Formats: sequence, C-alpha cells, structure tokens
Amino acid sequence: MKTTPKFRLPVIAAALMALSTSPVAAAPAKVLMPDANGHTWAIAIHGGAGTMSREAMTPEKEAEYRAALDHALKVGEQVLASGGSALDAVTAVVVTLEDDPHFNAGKGAVFTWEGRNELDSAIMDGRTRAAGAVAGVTIVKNPVKLARAVMEKSPHVMLAREGAEQFARENGLEIVDPKYFYTSERWQQLQEVKSGKLSWFDVDRKYGTVGAVAVDSEGHVAAATSTGGLTGKRWGRIGDSPVIGAGTYADDRACAVSATGSGEFFIREGVAHEICARLRFTKENAQTAADAVMAETGALGGDGGVIVVTPDGQAVFSFNTPGMYRARGNSGGLHEVGIFAGE
Ligand code: ASP
Repeated sequence: MKTTPKFRLPVIAAALMALSTSPVAAAPAKVLMPDANGHTWAIAIHGGAGTMSREAMTPEKEAEYRAALDHALKVGEQVLASGGSALDAVTAVVVTLEDDPHFNAGKGAVFTWEGRNELDSAIMDGRTRAAGAVAGVTIVKNPVKLARAVMEKSPHVMLAREGAEQFARENGLEIVDPKYFYTSERWQQLQEVKSGKLSWFDVDRKYGTVGAVAVDSEGHVAAATSTGGLTGKRWGRIGDSPVIGAGTYADDRACAVSATGSGEFFIREGVAHEICARLRFTKENAQTAADAVMAETGALGGDGGVIVVTPDGQAVFSFNTPGMYRARGNSGGLHEVGIFAGE
C-alpha cells in the first residue's frame, strides 16, 4: 500500500525525534566527579573468573591476590589521574598483571598439553576502533605490548605464532627464553589435567586471564586482555581473548569490554561486541547489557565474566562463576578490590 506524503512526514519527524533522544546521538554526560587535577576517569580490571570460594582459599593467598589486584589498579589509576590516555592505562595494567606470576598471562601462564606456554593478547582503542592482537606467542615477555605494536605499527589486526614473534623482534620488543614463563604451580596443574584429575574446563584451575578497560578524561575508552589460555590446550587452540569482538572490544560510541572464561562460548556469543552493540542500540545501562549477554553466554554453556567501562564513566563487572578477581576505581574516589561474588 502506498503511503501519502501527509502520513510520511509525521513518521519521519518521529524517527528524527527518537534519534535525537537516543543515547547514541547525544554525547553522554559524565556521571563522574573530577579528581584533584580536574580529570574524570574510570577503570576496571580483572585477573580471571572461576570457582574460587572463601573456604578453598587460605587467608594468605587471598591477601596476596587482593594486594596484586590493588597494585595493578593503582598503576592504571595513576596513568589516568595524570591525564594519560585510556589506552596507556590499560596497557600499563595488563603489563603489570603479565609480570605477576599469580595470573595466567605472561609469567605464570598455563601450560599446553605439550608443556609449552602459548600466549594470546589483544588491545583496542575506542577512539578509532583500531585493534591489535597476537596468538600463540612463546618468547615475547609482554604479549600486550606486541598486540599494541601490531595495532600501531602494522597494517594488520592479528598475527600468530612464529610470524608474530618475527614481528616482535623486528619491532624491538623484549624477547625472553620460554623458561621465563614457568611456574611450578602451573606445571603441577598440567600434570593434574593429564592424569585426568581435572576436566578440560575446570574453571578453578585454568582461568586467570587478565584484562583492563578504562575511560580517560577526554571520554575515550580502551580495552586490553592477555592470557595463557587453558591448561592442556592443544592443536594450536586459541580462545576468545585475542579475538576482537569476543574477548576484547572498545568503541567510544558504546563501551570497552574485556572478558575471561571458557573462550569457545565467548567466541560463539561474540560477547564483547554484543555488549557494545546493546549499549549503542538500546537505552540499557552497562550492568543490564553485560548481565544480559553473560546470561546468554551461560545458556550456551559458557562460564566466566566481563568488565565493562562506558564513556560516561560506568565501570561494572558481570560474571556467572562463584568468583572473579577484579578491581575498579574512578576519579570520584571509588577504589575497590573483589574476589568472591556478592562482595
Ligand atoms: N578466556 C580464556 C581462553 O579461553 C581463558 C580465561 O579467561 O582464563 O583462552
């Protein structure tokens, strides 16, 4: 049926009005208080999700993890409080967590079935949606720095294995002996997986991926993720962490996301992009969008969680495991560390 111009006009006007009131069209007002230097920023970080419970964790171990997360959060907060970019903040946090053997990234990464450490990482800049990622690297001390070099110095988004390592050498990244990544605890976990004491997706032992998302004083967001993947992985398996849109995504029009969990499900759901898409096209807040996407991922069979930061300064966590190593801070004075659900 043909529509007459008389009816078409109100329809167009209504569509324009809807656009002008949508959160996409309007620059979001910051919900943040400025810090002492007048900067407004927010940051969230994670060190993996899993079945950690208060009962299973000694007070010493718990204190160690809280201190490690607190330190990494402060590293990111300092970058942002001194007017640094979200991109520099997430890089600095992930480098700190890669260097910390408590986490499954960089030193302390889990072992493959063959007893190697194969590292994956990604980074994304919400200003331009530029992204860089690396998969299966074995000799690069800080895979997140290599991911950033791929983003900034190559025409590509994702490099893998020997080629990525050659690119690392050519760009002057720090190269280490593969033994550098070894920790006895992770080696022991591999032996447990091989002897069948742990299942392929034993969330307690295998997760520990790290990530950071931030918004800086200019309202730009960035995300970074780094991991050794899953204990006992083989056949060149790559999870969600370095897959742009699955484990990592950043878009100034929506949010920045870093994920952790059973990567296969996060890839199938397209978790990080899906959360950003919901924020772009609905009026949901970050918590609602993240919870909805985590619920869908859980329905597929996925375990894990996400951290999300929006240009207006929301900084949220969502996870369907009993715990997630996490922390967040903002220019208004928020500074908190958490491990277990409900704290
Ligand atoms: N998502 C990671 C992977 O599947 C693992 C993790 O988060 O711990 O490789």
